[in-house]
Amino acid sequence: MLTDYHLHLRTDERENTAERFFTSANAERYREAAEERGIAELGVAEHIYRFTAALEIWQHPFWQRYAVDDLDDYCGFVREETDLKLGLEMDYVPGREDRIANVLEAREWDYVVGSVHFLRDHSLDTEEYGIWGTGESPERVWRRYFETVAESARSGLYDIIAHPDLVKVWGRSTPQPDGDPRRYFEPAVEAFLDAGVAVELSTAGWRKPVAEQYPSVPFLEMLVDAGCPLALSSDAHTPEQVGFEYERAVELLESLGVRELAVFEARDRRLEPIG
Ligand SMILES: [Zn+2]
Ligand SMILES: [Zn+2]
Repeated sequence: MLTDYHLHLRTDERENTAERFFTSANAERYREAAEERGIAELGVAEHIYRFTAALEIWQHPFWQRYAVDDLDDYCGFVREETDLKLGLEMDYVPGREDRIANVLEAREWDYVVGSVHFLRDHSLDTEEYGIWGTGESPERVWRRYFETVAESARSGLYDIIAHPDLVKVWGRSTPQPDGDPRRYFEPAVEAFLDAGVAVELSTAGWRKPVAEQYPSVPFLEMLVDAGCPLALSSDAHTPEQVGFEYERAVELLESLGVRELAVFEARDRRLEPIG
């Protein structure tokens, strides 16, 4: 079995409306691309910030600009007009756990993907509101990032932790901390184990300036040694990106002795052999 659980049915521009992209024909384009690449198990995980319900959680100006769609319409569309698993990419906002839980508990997900895209008001992966250039040292940005990722797992809100080293996304165009990065990963791995969450191997990093999968090889090795279940995803925003660089990802997993992937239904997890 191969999975692609972190799919977006549209790219992130605001003008890509739900009316245009949440259609059975568009979902079918993703399904066809997946079939060509031998991927049987597909699910969508749209960004929470594209839905008005996001503003019950957080009112960052970036979210205010994008929060236009109805979350229940999305759930209804996926359940009734597609054969895709229903997920959500739900940002972790520290201190807003109860509000996040309220939004999640009101709907029936197959899985919830947890992401850290912001540290307080500063963004890790967009230039707008970007954290780089605010004067914080790379050591402090990385420490805060991995502490927040660990906290997101411990919140118990999530089934899968997405792109778990997103802080590296800009590669060498942003300052890097010196020395062995494993000191940053350790508390995160411990939190994933304690919380029993699955961690995403995301091929999307190969499309970004960093040009490497999430998580990095040393981080992935620590996760494998610890026995963390892994979920495989491309974070595709177009049908062409479905299963992006999966051969490379499967090869990497095999080289580390990983034989199974996490599969989800109604927020229950099981492991299935890769392939
Ligand atoms: Zn993300
Ligand atoms: Zn995503």
